[in-house]
Formats: sequence, C-alpha cells, structure tokens
Amino acid sequence: MRILVVEDEENLAESLRQGLSADGHRVEVAHDGHRGLDLARTGGPYDVVVLDLMLPGLGGHEICTRMRAHGDPTPVLMLTARDGERDEAEGLDAGADDYLTKPFSFVVLGARLRALARRAASPEPTVLRVGDLVLDPQDRRCRRGTRDIELTARELGVLACLMERPGRAVAKQDILDEVWDAPHAIDPNIVEVYVSSLRKKIDAPFGRRSILTVHGTGYRMAPDGG
Ligand code: CA
Repeated sequence: MRILVVEDEENLAESLRQGLSADGHRVEVAHDGHRGLDLARTGGPYDVVVLDLMLPGLGGHEICTRMRAHGDPTPVLMLTARDGERDEAEGLDAGADDYLTKPFSFVVLGARLRALARRAASPEPTVLRVGDLVLDPQDRRCRRGTRDIELTARELGVLACLMERPGRAVAKQDILDEVWDAPHAIDPNIVEVYVSSLRKKIDAPFGRRSILTVHGTGYRMAPDGG
C-alpha cells in the first residue's frame, strides 16, 4: 500500500515509517499540517492516510475536512493523544474513517490500515449468487431458491463476506475486520455465534450445508451453495 503519515512527533513518525516500510508499504511522511495537506492533494494517490490530530500549521481535522471538501475519498485513520468519545466523534465528523488513541500497538495499527484499504478497494457488490443462495447486500435481501430468508444486518455482513469468496477459507479475524466497526475490541469467536444462526436460517431448513468449518482458521462457503 501507499501510505501518507502526517505526524509532527519525529520519533513516532520515523518509527511508523520504518515499521510500515518493513511491512512492505511505501510510506511518505509529513511533519506539519500544511505539508501533509499538500502531499494528500498532489503526492498521491495514497491507499490510506494516517493523520495526527494535533499538528503545527493545520490540524488533522482540518486536513481531513479539506480533503473531503475536495472530493478526496482516501481512507483516513486519525491518531489522537487525547482519549474520549468526544475526540472520536469530532474525527468521524471531519470525515475520518477510523481513529486510534496514542499510545497504540503497531500490530493494531497495521491491521486497521489493511482493513480500511480493503473496505475502500471493494465497493459493495451488487448481487451475490452461490448455487441457489442469493444475497443482495444493498436491498438487504437473501433467498434460497424461491424462499426469502430474513437476516439481521450482522448476519448479512458475515454471509456476504463468505459468499464473496466461494470455496475459499476466510479467517474469523478477516470477517471481523470487514463486518464490525471496531473489530480490535472484539473477540473473533463472536463470529461463531453469527455463523451458527446463519446455518439455522439458510441451511438447516433446506437440509443443506453451505457454511463449512475450516478448523483453526474460520469458514468456507461451499462453491455450489451447499
Ligand atoms: Ca501531534
């Protein structure tokens, strides 16, 4: 991924550059807000932008607001030294896609950047079909054959995750990253609960087995829909 980091604490900026580069990303760093906005506008396109909240020149909120005002949809992860819901709400109001409070774990940062880029890269599919199982994520409708099936939003998200990759193993953590808004705070085993309720709705009443367990990893959608 190509990543822009706007961070005025030089030690932190440098460790982000080194860490993200070691993960194979191409990283550019700006140490003040004006330079950051310049790079965001002319240095990209970036796959994701990491914005510190408190910056000399121009703050993270302002940069994000201006990016969005210019129609720049690049995912933004806001870094804040302050904790609290108010900061989070401000960041999201400015158009940030996620936020992280310092100090943070580098592993968590990496995972959340990947999740942001993935969400941005894969727009909502139109209609998913696997065998006779049909899912329309936009209309929130699911059916098997001619029978409509009622799903909750979360069940629908989990099912879409699997139906987008028929026949392939999907890790619980990847499902969590895609379907939950704050996946870092949640145990991946929660996915089991939703898979279990999905099986009761899309498989059991039809005598089918479409969501297969991949031991030690997660789940796989049977390529023929079960
Ligand atoms: Ca700062």
